[in-house]
Amino acid sequence: MPEEGLPPIGSHAQLTASEIVRLVDIAVRHLGIREVRFTGGEPLVRRDLEKIIAGCRQLHSRLPLSITTNAIGLDRRAGRLAEAGLDRVNISLDTIDRDLFTRLTRRERLSSVLAGIRAARLHGFTPVKVNAVLTADTLTTAVELLEWCLAENVYLRSIEQMPLDAERTWNRADAVTADDLLSVLQRRFRLTAHSRIDRSAPAEEWAVNGGPARVGIITSVTRAFCADCDRTRLTAEGMIRPCLFSDTETDLRSALRAGVSDKELAQAWRDAMWRKPFGHEIGNAGFTPPVRSMGAIGG
Ligand code: SF4
Repeated sequence: MPEEGLPPIGSHAQLTASEIVRLVDIAVRHLGIREVRFTGGEPLVRRDLEKIIAGCRQLHSRLPLSITTNAIGLDRRAGRLAEAGLDRVNISLDTIDRDLFTRLTRRERLSSVLAGIRAARLHGFTPVKVNAVLTADTLTTAVELLEWCLAENVYLRSIEQMPLDAERTWNRADAVTADDLLSVLQRRFRLTAHSRIDRSAPAEEWAVNGGPARVGIITSVTRAFCADCDRTRLTAEGMIRPCLFSDTETDLRSALRAGVSDKELAQAWRDAMWRKPFGHEIGNAGFTPPVRSMGAIGG
């Protein structure tokens, strides 16, 4: 029987909750992983997310656990997720302009997202981070979004869009950059650069109007931080992707279901990470985007 909330086991079946917990445990005990984030697609579509979080928390009481979510339905689950042991929530929200939100997402769910953000704050997830992808459209409402985040006491991070869109429309010449955003925000706010303490943390930070409020800008394209990247990705189907842009995947799910030991799984994971490329190579001749889009890989 599949575990509750999962599709039937098949060739593309997702990992079960207990398989995910076991792999997280292996990553922590054998590979030195110090923080785990559940992304997507969308982690809230897993009805057993609370069970996954609780399982990880039971084994590792101090391991930072977070999710990146679109926050739809989070208002109903934030309390249970907090009880399960979730520490932090990153919410994807590109604009608070209702019409633009509906146009970009093809759904009239802005109220639900905002309710999710408020529920996250209410249940003590700190800091609540809002992740906004920079495009020509979202740039026009960036000031409004930062004002809203400041008023709600949540931390806004804007992210340069990468060529990971399912529609394959990304184009370097038209892409909005961190510098474009800074010049728009600086017309309305006084921004002062903060020095980055953790080199592997992706955001460049700016104090807003003298602080303590901050805004983060993730320069994933124009000032790539690949040299400091120490992340590993496990897809919902149990594949290791050493880099967002690497189409080479290592199948841990089959090995796990074949009954191999924790040590052997850890070694397979380690071997996969040795195949990590130096970086994404966006802008270099011969760059090709990965087959899977961001939504299918997980951010
Ligand atoms: S592109 Fe790859 S190497 Fe660069 S930051 Fe992203 S995952 Fe890390």
